Amino acid sequence: MSNPTEKHNKESITLPTSIDPFAWAIAGRSVKQTIAVKELGRLCSMLATDYGEVSVDIEFQVDKSGISSITGSTSASLELTCQRCLEPMRSSVASTVKMALLKDEKDEGGIPEQFESIIVEDEKLSIADFIEDELILALPVAESHPADQCEATQYMSDPSMSNPNSVEDKVKERENPFKVLEGLKTGAEN
Ligand SMILES: [Zn+2]
Repeated sequence: MSNPTEKHNKESITLPTSIDPFAWAIAGRSVKQTIAVKELGRLCSMLATDYGEVSVDIEFQVDKSGISSITGSTSASLELTCQRCLEPMRSSVASTVKMALLKDEKDEGGIPEQFESIIVEDEKLSIADFIEDELILALPVAESHPADQCEATQYMSDPSMSNPNSVEDKVKERENPFKVLEGLKTGAEN
């Protein structure tokens, strides 16, 4: 039976935290998956909420000049803090990946301009960290809602909204410090 609405089984998918990227390049491996933003703690700490998903579509390869690289893209739908009203705002962040893998800084000279490069120590790379770094670098510096959708500008431009910050004193339900022992009537049954 065909299911027209593809179900996404995304529970607890994580990106590998320690691979040998040179071996992956030789093998021509790729990573194509979606993970929850909340899996990426450093990124989360820069966001308004940890809501959202990250799409990763990268390939490891060795090109004919012998350069091992990671190419592809990563993108995410993130909730940033609007710098005007300080409320969360949804934003799409994307990064194109074209990263040469180097074992040593001294190899940097031989890398064509279109590549960025990363020194891979001990032939170990965390794909999670790598993707997280890419997204952090791609984050907008100061993002805000479009003016007509931002609460802050609406208050400023609309004088009829005279009560912008009425803090409703919510009556919190307090726990009654005196326990009502209704269920414990003595001598009720004979
Ligand atoms: Zn705003």
